[in-house]
Amino acid sequence: MARALEEAERAAESGEVPVGAVLVAADGTCLASCHNAPIAQHDPTAHAEIRALRAAGERLGNYRLPGTTLYVTLEPCSMCAGAMIHARVGRLVFGATDPRTGAAGGALDLIEHPSHNHHIEVLRGVRGEEAGERLRRFFRARRGVSSP
Ligand SMILES: [Zn+2]
Repeated sequence: MARALEEAERAAESGEVPVGAVLVAADGTCLASCHNAPIAQHDPTAHAEIRALRAAGERLGNYRLPGTTLYVTLEPCSMCAGAMIHARVGRLVFGATDPRTGAAGGALDLIEHPSHNHHIEVLRGVRGEEAGERLRRFFRARRGVSSP
């Protein structure tokens, strides 16, 4: 998660919403480490999680990534949650909860939806305060407001 937070910082430095994701294989190998980049890539799907899944898929030559753990600083949106299910990610560890668009229980729950036959283990709130504060700081700065 420390590395995912560093990635989030990198996103903020390039003016992107600070979200970072790291995908780790079952044996502990880091497969991908990415940040949010839809603005730079002119791509609405360039969320940190999607970029990490893509990079890992290319690296392994397989779109299925069983046994992997995805660490992400913010609760995944419905697009990313869907991609994680397609990729058969084993475990999701996320930081801040997103009550607006979170799809792992924050706004809706796609990850643990009973219709899926693939189950992803979820761990919430890991360094969530820190990740949430980084996001709030980013949006405050973008609005040009100094108070919350
Ligand atoms: Zn997303």
